[in-house]
Amino acid sequence: MKYLIAIFSVFIVLNVVNADTDLYKLSNEICKDCSTDEQKVVALREHVYEKMKPNGNGYNLEDVRSNSLMWCYENGVGWCDTQARVFMHLAREQGISTRLIFLLSPCMHTSPHTIAEAKIDNRWVVVDVGNNYDFRYNNRLATRNDMAAYFDKVVLSVVPEMPEQECPHCKRKYDYWKIFTNGAWTVTTMEP
Ligand SMILES: [Zn+2]
Repeated sequence: MKYLIAIFSVFIVLNVVNADTDLYKLSNEICKDCSTDEQKVVALREHVYEKMKPNGNGYNLEDVRSNSLMWCYENGVGWCDTQARVFMHLAREQGISTRLIFLLSPCMHTSPHTIAEAKIDNRWVVVDVGNNYDFRYNNRLATRNDMAAYFDKVVLSVVPEMPEQECPHCKRKYDYWKIFTNGAWTVTTMEP
């Protein structure tokens, strides 16, 4: 039994190491032409957006929930939260700090969209992997504060339109893209 546990442990350790090595290689490959953290964040965001799609290859939400992040990546399927978490893993391989943000409807009842944020030059910039929008202010990737303060300039110059959404709980209507400028739950984690 002891031998069995020992062999099993070695197997787990090797698996973790292999997974990390693959992720490191993958991240480096995607960022090979980048010199700044901002360029790396953009390259990783674009890569994950192109690679993982909602209902990608015919997989559904249940497939995403019952499989690992790397399975989702390799099979090209993922909604905003899974895309954001894969981005976070890849960014971490570049030494870039990230966090997961559940954007909230103004009534705070629902979270219609999940994004990541990356720390560049001590600013937490928005990384909307699911939409691959390039939100900028003063030629730098924008923070949520930038988006709140300069909504028309930063948000409405990039999004195609601002549809009205209804909260399924309280039926309150709101302008969808205002979710970036509301309060948010913030999850800071090393295990996205
Ligand atoms: Zn509500």
